[in-house]
Amino acid sequence: MPLTEFTLIYRYFSALGRGEGVHLSVGDDCAILGLKPGERLATSVDTMVEGVHFPADTFPEDIGFRAVSVAASDLAAMGARPLAMTLALTLPAADELWLHAFSQGIADAAAQYQLPLVGGDTTRGPLTITVQVLGALPPAQALLRGGASRGDELYVSGTLGDAAGALAFLSGDWRPSPEEAEYLLDRLNRPRARIELGRELLGKATAAIDISDGLLADAGHIAAASGIRLDIDPLLLPLSPVLKAHPSPEQARLWALTGGDDYELCFCLPPGEAAPSGCTRIGRAVAGIGVDCGLDIDVAAGYRHF
Ligand code: ADP
Ligand code: MG
Repeated sequence: MPLTEFTLIYRYFSALGRGEGVHLSVGDDCAILGLKPGERLATSVDTMVEGVHFPADTFPEDIGFRAVSVAASDLAAMGARPLAMTLALTLPAADELWLHAFSQGIADAAAQYQLPLVGGDTTRGPLTITVQVLGALPPAQALLRGGASRGDELYVSGTLGDAAGALAFLSGDWRPSPEEAEYLLDRLNRPRARIELGRELLGKATAAIDISDGLLADAGHIAAASGIRLDIDPLLLPLSPVLKAHPSPEQARLWALTGGDDYELCFCLPPGEAAPSGCTRIGRAVAGIGVDCGLDIDVAAGYRHF
């Protein structure tokens, strides 16, 4: 018997909705969430379209996990505490095998980020996944893009360029070993939103952003919003062992500078402020505009939808 919309929602998406602060979850006209006294609501939404944001042959588990991680990464970049998410799903067909795997990816991410799924919408059409995230910020605190000033030090979390390396592997431009390829694909398909780091940076970082479009492009947003220039030393960029083993160090560094989809955090700290573990200093804020890495790179060459 074909799945009805309501059986589909009940079977795959109604069991993930419990969490602290969730007063009413999937099943009514709206969900109801509670904030602690004085907290402010932070919200963001991200859409993923098949063939645009992920290849058509991506595993459904990974599509689900990645859709939530990409959205949750914006909460991390604000320093917000995850409260809940909603999921607007457009499906070409009610394929139960696909839905089972996809909802497993959503469930993994919901557990990882403590982000209960409290509502959504389900429609038919070309595969499109929209995740809205809701988070809580303590009174008068948030990691904005615009607070950096001259003299601040620039940092990134984790390693950069792995997702771009994975895309090069998928397109046949690079042949890493099977173990290396597995690492790269995990970085592309299972990005981890840096929620804990974002919360640790609240009250310390003067500016922050998550790296979705590539370091140069995203650092450029901090520079523009803060009215400073960011000088980046490409030799300081943190690379994974797999990228360090790439035959061309220049190529690896280019991926780290311009590759998107890493979902690490890029942030500024005042001089003397200790960086959290797992983070690397890559440059500093000076007077001027834009981002300077000493190389002639077209930052705007990244993906543009329009
Ligand atoms: P409405 O007609 O009020 O928009 P819907 O029929 O679209 O309600 O959805 C019924 C309930 O199921 C609502 O609580 C809605 O939030 C939830 N829901 C619908 N689709 C999803 C989904 N993909 N994931 C989670 N919850 C969903
Ligand atoms: Mg609806």
